[in-house]
Amino acid sequence: MIWVREVAAAVRGECTPDAPLAPRTSIRVGGPADLLVRPADAADVAALLRECASRALPVLVLGGGANLLVADAGIRGVVIRLPVDLGEESLDGERLVLSGGAPVTRVVQRAVSAGLTGCEFAAGIPGTLGGAVAMNAGTRIGEMKDVVERVEVATPEGVRWIPAQELGFAYRTCRLPEGAVVTRVGFRLKHGDVAASRAVMDADREHRRRTQPLNWPTWGSTFRNPPGDHAGRLVEAAGLKGHRLGNAMWSDLHANFVVNLGGATARDCLALIRMARERVRERFGVELELEVRLAGAFAQDEHP
Ligand SMILES: Cc1cc2nc3c(=O)[nH]c(=O)nc-3n(C[C@H](O)[C@H](O)[C@H](O)COP(=O)(O)OP(=O)(O)OC[C@H]3O[C@@H](n4cnc5c(N)ncnc54)[C@H](O)[C@@H]3O)c2cc1C
Repeated sequence: MIWVREVAAAVRGECTPDAPLAPRTSIRVGGPADLLVRPADAADVAALLRECASRALPVLVLGGGANLLVADAGIRGVVIRLPVDLGEESLDGERLVLSGGAPVTRVVQRAVSAGLTGCEFAAGIPGTLGGAVAMNAGTRIGEMKDVVERVEVATPEGVRWIPAQELGFAYRTCRLPEGAVVTRVGFRLKHGDVAASRAVMDADREHRRRTQPLNWPTWGSTFRNPPGDHAGRLVEAAGLKGHRLGNAMWSDLHANFVVNLGGATARDCLALIRMARERVRERFGVELELEVRLAGAFAQDEHP
């Protein structure tokens, strides 16, 4: 593919053609990207987006791959994976600016060492800060919208800051401008009782260890919780907890998590998802909506 060389020549970052994506997702499933780019900085992301737009190439931003199912056939076009340290990070009183490519745990570590509180919910969430903004990641005790004050985004037009009020944060979603890549995240936290904050985070991690299949590759929650109910409860009540197809299985610990028992395919995972949706619809009249994001070239008959 000629475009691969031409796009690679237009960016300063690192480019890997035909890059395997399974090892870059937490469920360890999926085929390769035509071109994986690790941009040098936010301006490089914007230059890459411009180049892709001018060639009408599809672009996907990959965070930690902690909530993503990549098709077995992989992803056509360009996949962007931000470096962990992208752009300048800073701490100014209760305001913290961090790289969009940094792990979510970074905000927790920085907060604790600066005596800041408010982001306890983030302690056990895998992935990157950019992905956490895109998903409005959170738990019962808080979500990104509670602590994000602004985000820096790269688009084909350049790099700019957007105030959080313009991001339309809602349950596990946010309305970023079309094709925008979150390059830095600005947090507003509060000086507070860090010991109490640590206790809350320890309790959350302990709760996860008991209730989530953390020893298996998984993408976390498959379905969004329907209003007033829990998707895991419905999948379990539909008799699918521990149900296996190929090497993918509805976890026997938490029925909203699919686990990869080793060598699972995206096709196996999607078949499990389809089965759960059908059974839950038939038995309880509830339409389960996906929380996990699908990426890539899925066959028509694979769609859940
Ligand atoms: C064991 C486990 C437990 C989990 N627990 C929770 C939980 O408690 N709460 C919760 O909310 N989630 C949870 N998750 C899901 C996951 O951790 C979150 O959704 C996380 O925010 C995904 O971040 P990521 O960087 O891995 O994004 P990815 O999975 O890589 O991508 C998710 C979406 O975000 C987009 N995206 C990623 N980075 C950027 C960027 N820089 N700019 C723009 N868009 C971007 C992607 O294109 C994609 O659409 C869990 C997952 C696992 C595996």
